[in-house]
Amino acid sequence: MAHVSSLPKHFLSDKVEHFTESVIREMTRQAMQYGAINLAQGFPDFPAPEEIKQAAQKAIADDVNQYAITWGAKNLRAAIARQMQVWQGIEVDPEREVVVCCGSTEAMIATLLAVCNKGDEVVVFEPFYENYGPDSVLSGAKPRFVSLRPPQKPNDDWTFDAQELREAFQHHTKAIVVNTPNNPTGKVFTRKELELIRDLCVEYNVLAITDEIYEHILYDGAKHISIASLEGMKERTITINGLSKSYSVTGWRVGWAVAPPAITNAIRKVHDFLTVGAPAPLQEAGAAALSLPGKYYHDLAERYRTRRNHLIPALEKAGFRCYLPQGAYYVMTDISAFGFKNDVEFASHLVKDVGIACVPGSSFYKHAKDGAHQVRFAFCKKPETLDEASRRLEKLGSR
Ligand code: GLN
Repeated sequence: MAHVSSLPKHFLSDKVEHFTESVIREMTRQAMQYGAINLAQGFPDFPAPEEIKQAAQKAIADDVNQYAITWGAKNLRAAIARQMQVWQGIEVDPEREVVVCCGSTEAMIATLLAVCNKGDEVVVFEPFYENYGPDSVLSGAKPRFVSLRPPQKPNDDWTFDAQELREAFQHHTKAIVVNTPNNPTGKVFTRKELELIRDLCVEYNVLAITDEIYEHILYDGAKHISIASLEGMKERTITINGLSKSYSVTGWRVGWAVAPPAITNAIRKVHDFLTVGAPAPLQEAGAAALSLPGKYYHDLAERYRTRRNHLIPALEKAGFRCYLPQGAYYVMTDISAFGFKNDVEFASHLVKDVGIACVPGSSFYKHAKDGAHQVRFAFCKKPETLDEASRRLEKLGSR
């Protein structure tokens, strides 16, 4: 009998040759293998809010245990529409414009599958959250990357070149992915930047597909703006979000896409045949989560600000150059001072010998060399975890 590793290549889809397994998830496995502190994959190590855990338990006890409507439980869709109105002033019809998916991860790929044809291009800012590359490939499209350049001075932000962005819109462009607050850079796109993207979307008849999963995790007065709230964009935007980061339940896998009715219909079809639906009791708990009072979001952001300000000085003391995030819960760092060959060698040393897992910067770039002097840390962790990480960082020396 043939061993799995000797299976002929003709059994495999060509599509899977164009991307590798997730490096972020691989680093979590390495963290477990070496007993390291996991500052790689972005998930909290502290409890989810009591109210929403109880709502989930109650939903199961009340027997909300069969399929919800495939495109999402009515309660949750109503809550999503209501909150988009409250936070962003966007009018959403929960019956015709919302699809609840298994996490924003599924919402993103279901959207790309629903809108892309072979030969289409999707514009993606780089560094990028690693899923967008494989998502584009699996949907038959080609990603075209536009650089976000790191800040040169402490108070600067990651920036892009308007001309480079305009140029990127001129190649059978179907959509642009806008992830704000941004993973991995922590950049929060400004109104001016979003208006520039809007103008290009309108001029070239391109869709905006947003990933707004960190919308409530903001620092130093940064404001989140949904591109769908800009004039002329609601009819060409798919807004993606989910419970994972705002409510510290990354394992629940409940996310959603909000889009104009014709696009919603297409996403609903793809979603139905991919997964049928997201977990029914957790959708009910999601409706409870979206009903938490405003103070909840204030406290969430405040606690993340404390964690950011806990980890960054420890990293700087150890020799990292940190790019201060304005949103999300990651910090991109420059590791040039340590004199390692590249980010992968550095991350491997860090996980095995120092006991901290991070994500090599190259996994956020198309060409590994562009991220070879960067690594990303997640700080969505308890103070004790960050204390222990700070202690371990003292062991780190240069080569
Ligand atoms: N978004 C998280 C990160 O960037 C984790 C995502 C995932 O692994 N599904 O680390």
